[in-house]
Amino acid sequence: MSAYDYDLFTIGGGSGGVRASRFAAQHGARVAIAESQYLGGTCVNVGCIPKKLMSYGAHFHEDFSDAVGYGWQPGQPGFDWATLIAAKDKEIARLNGVYRKLLDGAGVKVIDGFAVIEDAHTVRVGEQRFSAEHILIATGGQPSVPNFPGSVHAITSDGFFRLPALPARTVVMGGGYIAVELASILNGLGSQVTLVYRGKQLLRTMDAELGVFLAAEMQKKGMQILFETTIAGIEQSAGGKTVILDDGRRIEADCVLLATGRDANTAQLGLGNAGVATKDNGAIVVNEQFATNVPSIHAIGDVIDRIALTPVALAEGMAVAGRLFNKAARSVSYDNVPTAVFSHPNVATVGLSEEQARKKFTGLRIFKSEFKPLKHTLSGNPERTFMKLVVDAASDKVLGVHMVGAEAGEIMQGFAVALQCGATKAQFDATIGIHPTAAEEFVTMRTPV
Ligand code: NDP
Repeated sequence: MSAYDYDLFTIGGGSGGVRASRFAAQHGARVAIAESQYLGGTCVNVGCIPKKLMSYGAHFHEDFSDAVGYGWQPGQPGFDWATLIAAKDKEIARLNGVYRKLLDGAGVKVIDGFAVIEDAHTVRVGEQRFSAEHILIATGGQPSVPNFPGSVHAITSDGFFRLPALPARTVVMGGGYIAVELASILNGLGSQVTLVYRGKQLLRTMDAELGVFLAAEMQKKGMQILFETTIAGIEQSAGGKTVILDDGRRIEADCVLLATGRDANTAQLGLGNAGVATKDNGAIVVNEQFATNVPSIHAIGDVIDRIALTPVALAEGMAVAGRLFNKAARSVSYDNVPTAVFSHPNVATVGLSEEQARKKFTGLRIFKSEFKPLKHTLSGNPERTFMKLVVDAASDKVLGVHMVGAEAGEIMQGFAVALQCGATKAQFDATIGIHPTAAEEFVTMRTPV
């Protein structure tokens, strides 16, 4: 046993920090974790979980009208924001408790408070000082707010989850994950949504066709999207907010939501006291083993700004715990990380986009399918589904699987396993479809475009 108070002191009780702490404790380490806000971090409190619950809630809007085509006469459905938010908050509080129980059960000491690093082996929380052989920084990120006149009148995703009422008119700024997800939720719940995006294609980092297809589907659902436009300022008046666009147009709104990326949570952490190196954007620099330039300090999750996804932070946390306390040389592969965007409709992807594949491979075969899902033949809903496979012509290996459509996230998980196994197009073709599903289309596309 080391002479330190703890073998591991984790700063940040989000997905990555909690997972690393629990696994370290299971490997026999004496572990403490400090959290200043809420256990579960962004994902549980102001991210994945409340977002997905609210996405389900918003989808009922379409479900009610879809039902009419099947003979149901649901009448005029009414929506009560307070009921949804109270139910969501109750579930989040339950999850906060589950996280605390998991940590207690694993023997991890939970310290409620803001932790500051004093040196390579010392952390201070309030007036208390703790020494630790290893310090793990898992403090995540926070919404980044662009600097323009009146930006204080806008909210971010954090504020979205605390809105006292559904805004009648919302302007959303951004074209990434959060912008399209929250725009879809607000639209589904009944807000009139205008999305303002500085670029030409939503979800710019993904296969180009996904963003184009998604934009068309979102527009069909009534969202207005202004491309190559940005917000120059916001004026607050008694009647609401006036959004001034860079081309001089003005939009009246009740709520302006900025979804313009996230910054690493490193301010006031005392990184300078130990000399921990950061990138220009504040994210912590780590090596393949998640060690910073200070050997006793590691960092994982959104704070290292690699892939800001909960399952990635979990994998990184387990890798650190395994390496430090179980002599396991576990690394994390960032290849074929599947991801889903819970916009309406959903987007999901694994592997390389066509654009990425073209830079790495000389010959590609591209398979595409676009169709009206069976459900909507009777519902009358105009939503369509898009699917795409990117295949290396030389090896026949499937490099990328992409989809816009209902349950794309659920469908993509299995295809991620196939790509991890190096599946070829011939193996996709040899797989029997499940009929009638949308997913079967991925194993029945025969003719390259
Ligand atoms: P993203 O990086 O996905 O998107 C940020 C968007 O804001 C981009 O469209 C970007 O434009 C735009 N933008 C950035 N700065 C400015 C600016 N100054 N003025 C105007 N527009 C700007 O970030 P998000 O905040 O949406 O999400 C952060 C991360 O969190 C995601 O990348 C993802 O890793 C994770 N996340 C995952 C989810 C999931 O798994 N379903 C859900 C939500 C978040 P441009 O494209 O031109 O750069």
